Formats: sequence, C-alpha cells, structure tokens
Amino acid sequence: MSKGPIRAVGDFFDSLLLRELFKGMALTGRYLFSRKITIRYPEEKTPMSPRFRGLHALRRYENGEERCIACKLCEAVCPALAITIESEQRADGTRRTTRYDIDLTKCIFCGFCEESCPVDSIVETHILEYHGERRGDLVYTKEMLLAIGDRYEKEIAAARAADAAYR
Ligand code: SF4
Ligand code: SF4
Repeated sequence: MSKGPIRAVGDFFDSLLLRELFKGMALTGRYLFSRKITIRYPEEKTPMSPRFRGLHALRRYENGEERCIACKLCEAVCPALAITIESEQRADGTRRTTRYDIDLTKCIFCGFCEESCPVDSIVETHILEYHGERRGDLVYTKEMLLAIGDRYEKEIAAARAADAAYR
C-alpha cells in the first residue's frame, strides 16, 4: 500500500532536516551523562539475590552433625539426573549418605534439589566463580560439598533468612 501524499511530504522534510539523526544523537547524549550501568568485573560486582542458584553445598547443624538424612528426594526430583546418592544405616539407627555426588556438567541449576530437601541440607550458594580443567573436576563429592557448606555457612544461613518470608 502506498503512503498518502501528506505522509510522503512529512517523510521528505524529516529526511531533509536529518530529524531521525538528531533524535538518535539526543538519546546518545542523554545516556552520555547519566549514571553508568556497566561495571569492571571482577573488581566490581552487581548485587546478588539471596535466591541466587550457584555452586551447591551440603550443610551441617551447629553441633557438627550433617543435616542430610539420605531421604533421596533431591536425587529423585533432579530433572538432569545429576545427583547420585548411596546410603547406609548407622549403629544408632539413623540413616546417612555414604556417597553424595553432583555432576555439575549435567546440572541445570533449577533449584529443585534444595526446594525438595526437608532439612535444608542441599543448598545452592552465591558462588559462581569456579571451574574445572579436567574431565571429572566438576563432579562434586560429598566431602567437597560439605567443605563448601562449612566454609560458607554464615552466608548460606543469611541468604536463607533473607528469603524465609517467601518460602
Ligand atoms: S539444581 Fe536442579 S539439575 Fe542441579 S542438581 Fe539440583 S535438581 Fe539437579
Ligand atoms: S540432601 Fe536433603 S533431599 Fe537430598 S537426600 Fe539429603 S536430606 Fe534428602
């Protein structure tokens, strides 16, 4: 469909007076003096939500006992089949894992594992800067996950407390 004569004349004058160009430059000028939103990562970092789903950790209670009771709900719910658990019964009748592996090359960081855990044992932390260099480096074992939990318990507890009202 052809343009009407009035629209065509308007377009002609717009192009003659470089109106679109000045509109674009005005927009650029506005952002030139406004607060910058780019940051110099990794020296500077953006704020992070307490719900951020990063590297996993296994938590302990204050008395040092591991929280995980080997119910295997996290293993069952994981859509990526990234969690492998083996367990056995202790002499005191409680059940604990003997193996708890997460293959982070399979994990899609959906958070289902931490949502399903009845004792807040498996959690996803704010840690995002980690890597693996060899095959298998990203399979995190129970010992590795507990060590992360021990090291970052304060931050993990604070993030969960901040989000508690929405859970
Ligand atoms: S975050 Fe999702 S994909 Fe990753 S281990 Fe947990 S349940 Fe599985
Ligand atoms: S981490 Fe939680 S959901 Fe998974 S086996 Fe242990 S207690 Fe169950």
